[in-house]
Amino acid sequence: MTIKEKREPQNPRYNARKTPETIEKARERSRVHREKRRYEGPEAYKQRAHAAYVKYLQPKLLTDPERYHAKISEHHARRHRIERYRRGQILKQWFFKHAWVRDELPWKSHRPVLYDQNTGHYCAGCEWTKYGGRRLWFKNLVDESYLCQSCYIPPSPDWDQIMPKGYEDIKTLKDLKARKQQLDGSGAPPSR
Ligand SMILES: [Zn+2]
Repeated sequence: MTIKEKREPQNPRYNARKTPETIEKARERSRVHREKRRYEGPEAYKQRAHAAYVKYLQPKLLTDPERYHAKISEHHARRHRIERYRRGQILKQWFFKHAWVRDELPWKSHRPVLYDQNTGHYCAGCEWTKYGGRRLWFKNLVDESYLCQSCYIPPSPDWDQIMPKGYEDIKTLKDLKARKQQLDGSGAPPSR
């Protein structure tokens, strides 16, 4: 079987239904739907979500409390994982984009170092020299050993350890700049 054959839809009527007109109609329908929802505002959204909860989910949860608790903790765990990942990703972006983040902030244990090209170092966390190298490394302020970014920002990060002194709670670039201005006591925002 070729790749093209594999891509053929199971239902032969699928393509027949999908004409430029029907696609345009469907888009229009969802656009109208979105507009309507937008003007309803957040209160109406909450009410609708609650009504759906009472109708569909609550009856199941009331008859099965174990499932209820499993669902709640699953939800919290998921939110937590997403938040952790997002914060790590944002931090890595700052290291690549802003020299002042790397060079001017009071890092506690390691200072981020960005090379123009992939550079090989022995990672003290992995206990392994990364062949092919990385552009971003974290240099130990005391013994000048290096950590790779997966070791400096691990899957379960301790932000108090990772973030610079006085910046532990910062999550956005705007807040980061504001905090720097405040701590430096200067009126000028960070250069780049
Ligand atoms: Zn490592």
